[in-house]
Amino acid sequence: MASLLIVEDDDLLRDALGAQLAQAGHTVTPAADGALAQGLLEAQRYDGVILDLGLPRVSGLELLQWIRLRHSALPVLVLTARDGVDDRVQGLNFGADDYLTKPFSMAELQARLGALLRRARLPAFAGSLELPADQHGRLRVDASQPLAWVGEVPLELTQREWVLLSLLVTQAGQVVSREAVLAAWQTESGDSGAGSGGMASNALEVYIHRLRRKLEDSGLNIRNVRGLGYLLEQTRP
Ligand code: CA
Repeated sequence: MASLLIVEDDDLLRDALGAQLAQAGHTVTPAADGALAQGLLEAQRYDGVILDLGLPRVSGLELLQWIRLRHSALPVLVLTARDGVDDRVQGLNFGADDYLTKPFSMAELQARLGALLRRARLPAFAGSLELPADQHGRLRVDASQPLAWVGEVPLELTQREWVLLSLLVTQAGQVVSREAVLAAWQTESGDSGAGSGGMASNALEVYIHRLRRKLEDSGLNIRNVRGLGYLLEQTRP
């Protein structure tokens, strides 16, 4: 049994999902758009989110980034009506834990959701921004402050470095795309992104370089995966 937030603007689908999941024993809170969902997420703790990507006002992808910056360990299952691979890849890059393409069966939804919730309850994934014990080296991150340390030494991070580190840590072992970092920076600064894309893209290399140096003693390295993005991994002994 879990406390679930369903963010879906289609009334029929939202009601149907809510009814089915309530019947399965979950506590369900519906939200018809992203702005409502943000309000609910700020006010209350949920065990998981079912998120439609095609939303009015705040788009599903925007909301997903917003969730990841604040609730890094919250399981999110993305629903997408679009059959474009781009959308799903972008969703996963932005931190979705899994996705379903509409139309889907209720049995499949329940199975995927169950797997997400089980994974989230594993001790290694409990707590925000905590890496599995064998992966975090000497890095400690407290998302609530936000602060990070290597050993006992606090890291001095700019806002952009913090966002970058958060993305790398929450997706440790997976490649974080350049696009995901740039989009997260834009979201964080409230920047519409107009005209700043090229500059930010060049700046990203600089930030990666700086953050890599700050992590020098952590036992972690940021690997540049050519053409794909960046990967936080343990330094080889
Ligand atoms: Ca929709």
